[in-house]
Amino acid sequence: MAARIIDGRALATKMRNALVNRVQHIKESKGIVPGLAVVLVGDDPASRTYVGMKEKASQQVGIYSEIYRLEAQTPEEKLLSIIDELNEDQEIHGILVQLPLPGHIDQRKAIERINPNKDVDGFHPINMGRLVIGDEAGFIPCTPYGILKLLENEGIVIEGKKAVVVGRSNIVGKPMAFLLLHRNATVTICHSRTQALSEVTREADILISAVGKPHIIKGDMVKPGAVVIDVGINRLKNKLIGDVDFNEVREVAGWITPVPGGVGPMTITMLLHNTIEAALK
Ligand code: NDP
Repeated sequence: MAARIIDGRALATKMRNALVNRVQHIKESKGIVPGLAVVLVGDDPASRTYVGMKEKASQQVGIYSEIYRLEAQTPEEKLLSIIDELNEDQEIHGILVQLPLPGHIDQRKAIERINPNKDVDGFHPINMGRLVIGDEAGFIPCTPYGILKLLENEGIVIEGKKAVVVGRSNIVGKPMAFLLLHRNATVTICHSRTQALSEVTREADILISAVGKPHIIKGDMVKPGAVVIDVGINRLKNKLIGDVDFNEVREVAGWITPVPGGVGPMTITMLLHNTIEAALK
């Protein structure tokens, strides 16, 4: 039997509708309009698209948004001073610096400059550190957070399961692994130096791929009945495809996320959620 398709778009729509009501309620009861500032440096086409989507999604749920589109040559000091201003701005509760930044800017410096209480991406070392020690009261990075919501919504049990996360980036792989670990999965993290990847992935009850290589996960790398979450976004001839060979894997897995329409819509939804939480803090 083919895998059940996890519809990220449907859950994202449902959650965003609930967020519309939440924003309205916060406005009426507290007189606060949640505010998000997004800072984009340069003109990377994918980043431009993401920033546009974040702006539109914010408006749809009633979040006030400011978008800073800075030219690629913007000096690091200029970016840091904009972040300083946003840290002080009472109308802005969430600050997001779109990654990647141009090479002359120290990404770490920019992220560390954001007030951790406004770090709605959850990339500041304070929020990352909280996540690692199991304190989820900070901000959880949006993509892994969205994946967790997808798993919960499907009623998938995490406790006691073998989870394999392919990819160890700070924005997806590592936070994902800790979220699963804290929910009592036995977690393995794979990366480019992992040997015999398919032997490891075949052990997984829950397999999450965050690599960025088209169709790196094939049908014979998946345990029958496993949950397969595809984070990858790869652009091939104007088409978006995932890390997972969907047609092969759906014949083996129990659950699978499509690309597009799986993890992507949830990432932005969790950004909206985090912004609202920031406004309430
Ligand atoms: P990074 O490039 O930062 O990390 C990729 C990871 O994959 C690295 O840890 C790398 O290992 C590992 N890797 C590379 N090649 C292999 C291989 N052959 N076998 C096993 N592991 C390998 O990417 P991100 O985490 O930022 O993003 C991953 C993908 O997810 C991208 O396609 C990105 O576009 C997408 N993405 C999607 C989002 C969404 O909302 N749907 C949000 C964020 C990202 P090593 O550490 O050894 O280099």
